[in-house]
Amino acid sequence: EFAEVSIKDIDQVAKSSFPLCMRHLFEKLREDHHLKHGGRMQLGLFLKGVGLKLDDALAFWKAEFSQKVGAERFDKEYAYSIRHNYGREGKRTDYTPYSCQKIISSTPGVGDHHGCPYRHFSEENLRAALSRMGVNSGALENVMDKVRNRHYQLACTLTFESIHGLSYDAGINHPNQYFSDSQKFFK
Ligand code: SF4
Repeated sequence: EFAEVSIKDIDQVAKSSFPLCMRHLFEKLREDHHLKHGGRMQLGLFLKGVGLKLDDALAFWKAEFSQKVGAERFDKEYAYSIRHNYGREGKRTDYTPYSCQKIISSTPGVGDHHGCPYRHFSEENLRAALSRMGVNSGALENVMDKVRNRHYQLACTLTFESIHGLSYDAGINHPNQYFSDSQKFFK
């Protein structure tokens, strides 16, 4: 029951309602016109959960990747896995977006941008990213406190509360939950 999102709204909703893990991937994709496999999976399935239709997803990824590898290589090497994520290729499994637990336990390597920033960013990068997101300095210290105690989902929940100015008792356990509850708030 996720809301539908179209390409023309995607930058705006990324800013307002993506959790930090997905904002980071989204910004890196816009910046580098490329993401490695782990990032394509994590962001791609999230966007599917957000309600991006297959045709829009293909257009979205193609617009970025063609700037780096060319349209032809995109069609040859990357379009398949996007259709695959939507269950249109291979075993036709309808893949579901990753939970926080899965993302937190992933192991991004050099040049990877997937994973959970609360777990995988350096303290300096995390502080900078949270400030850019609009977390005020008081809340930021509470977030960092949770991170130090390895309570990454609580850190994300505090971020949600700070940005939306409300208390969020449910607690974040899925990036698409973060997204849909944020969208409800802005409606
Ligand atoms: Fe993403 Fe979950 Fe980490 Fe928040 S706690 S940044 S939603 S993986």
